[in-house]
Amino acid sequence: MSASITVVPSVVLTRTHPQGYYEMRLESIGGLGAHLAGQTLAEAAILGMGLDGSHFSSYGSEKKGSPVRSFVRLTARGRDVRTSAPVDRPHLVALFHEALARTQNVVEGLEAEGVVVVNTHRDPQAEAQRLRVAGVTVGVVDALRIALEEKTRINTAMLGAITRASGFLDRDAVRTAVARTFAKKRYAHLLEANLRTFDRGFDEARLEFIEGEMPPPAPPTEPEMGYITAPIGGAILHPANSIIKDMSPSRQGVLPAFYRERCIDCGLCDMVCPDLCFVWEEGVDSKGRPAMVLRGIDYQFCKGCLKCVEACPTEPPALEEIRETEGWADARRAVHFPQVLHEHRVAAGAGWQQTASAESGPSPNVVSRYERGDGKQGEERGEGR
Ligand code: SF4
Ligand code: SF4
Repeated sequence: MSASITVVPSVVLTRTHPQGYYEMRLESIGGLGAHLAGQTLAEAAILGMGLDGSHFSSYGSEKKGSPVRSFVRLTARGRDVRTSAPVDRPHLVALFHEALARTQNVVEGLEAEGVVVVNTHRDPQAEAQRLRVAGVTVGVVDALRIALEEKTRINTAMLGAITRASGFLDRDAVRTAVARTFAKKRYAHLLEANLRTFDRGFDEARLEFIEGEMPPPAPPTEPEMGYITAPIGGAILHPANSIIKDMSPSRQGVLPAFYRERCIDCGLCDMVCPDLCFVWEEGVDSKGRPAMVLRGIDYQFCKGCLKCVEACPTEPPALEEIRETEGWADARRAVHFPQVLHEHRVAAGAGWQQTASAESGPSPNVVSRYERGDGKQGEERGEGR
């Protein structure tokens, strides 16, 4: 008996580039499953909606936390996709990690009347303002909360939201592709939870068309050093540059909150932290003897692995997992190496600016000292929560 082939009627793509492509770009970091999400979307469109297309991703180093872009290009059945160039004029952008917008222009090249889907707890208007977009549809979904509640990953919730926001992707086709992925023997125990996550992403997504015109793109930032300005001989003028590395976009929505009043300065957190986040200073112990005391966490280096939360022995714990909100970490950061940071920023011509959350502001327990622009020591206090 010959195997039967199901021919799926082809969906008509109404918005394409002159070459006939509808293009999507998923902006993410390693570990959030954007590659698999792109693959699932392409599979659903090709096998379930009668389209042709391609999918591929571009990575930095293969590890959690490094930027990942996943590209999906769809076209009418029978039209070849003869390019594997990155998508630079997307009709749809999906932002898997909202903090990425702090360090790169995630909506670059977005087509007028395009779609942006963001994993966030904010509403579409607030997100549009933050991303500086207008004349497009903004879709928001709290994919992290859904994933935490369902014990899955955010990519499946994002798939639900992308499917709904796209306006043409077929819910059943994408759901079937999700099911096909998780029905494999190795992941079978995750199937039901992921289907629930997909459905919730679809149903809980909030969409809004943002009136107005897209503001002109910000001019590209000049690198600090280039062909003309690089030091002779390629000398490294500012050594230890990992000090200025910002690891905060690596966090996946949770981070440790520090409660100074519960801490016994045992140092276990520092021993398990992979990134030298804990800041100590000379002080006195509970009996008044000289000792090193934990000042706080430099959240610039914290990637939210929560190993320190597991290690903290006090009851109640001096470190607790919390959901990260915009500006929280900046306002409570205990600055490591303030002098080096200051020197770097002065060398870069940027001056020194200590960021603080407008909503909560610094509070009294954690102390950050920093070098002020006039060369004198500044001090800032903030509590663990
Ligand atoms: S979560 Fe804790 S252990 Fe992990 S990087 Fe941040 S401070 Fe270090
Ligand atoms: S493990 Fe907990 S109690 Fe010990 S130093 Fe770290 S925060 Fe303080």
